[in-house]
Amino acid sequence: MTVFHCAKCAVGLTPDLQALPAVPDVSVHDRARDRKTALAPSTVPRGHYAIDPEPWGAPFEPARNPAGNEGKRGAGDRDLLMPPGMEGLVAAGPAGSAIVHPDDVRTLHVTAAGGSHWGCCGPLGTGGRNMACTCGTLVATLAADCMGPHELHLDPVRVYAFDAEG
Ligand SMILES: [Zn+2]
Ligand SMILES: [Zn+2]
Repeated sequence: MTVFHCAKCAVGLTPDLQALPAVPDVSVHDRARDRKTALAPSTVPRGHYAIDPEPWGAPFEPARNPAGNEGKRGAGDRDLLMPPGMEGLVAAGPAGSAIVHPDDVRTLHVTAAGGSHWGCCGPLGTGGRNMACTCGTLVATLAADCMGPHELHLDPVRVYAFDAEG
């Protein structure tokens, strides 16, 4: 079991979470969207976390091989919905971020709403870290718009994992 902490103030950000062997294959095209919010199911279920081995989130850069789909995930992809002007760019953010259920990090708060990195009802996750610890440090990125994936990435530099005994 693992608890994630803010690297700046050391406060615990999550309850004890269980590691998943891989990032679950949740598609943004999943039909099991929430009836009220239209959000896709959270990529990671409550009480769990998964380490994303791929670069994720901001900054974004032009795809090296725009024509092909080399190295891309399969049909159940979780690609972020890109705001106008950023279509076709690929994530070059940090690899190794921990994905958790947004409801498992209740002390974090979203810092900026609106703007180009905001979809019709929630953050796209394309504008860099958008969730702050109670100490003010931006430690995570939330993607939670009805058109894209629903997941929260803890920044691998600004958050550390503490493995509890037993
Ligand atoms: Zn903190
Ligand atoms: Zn929306």
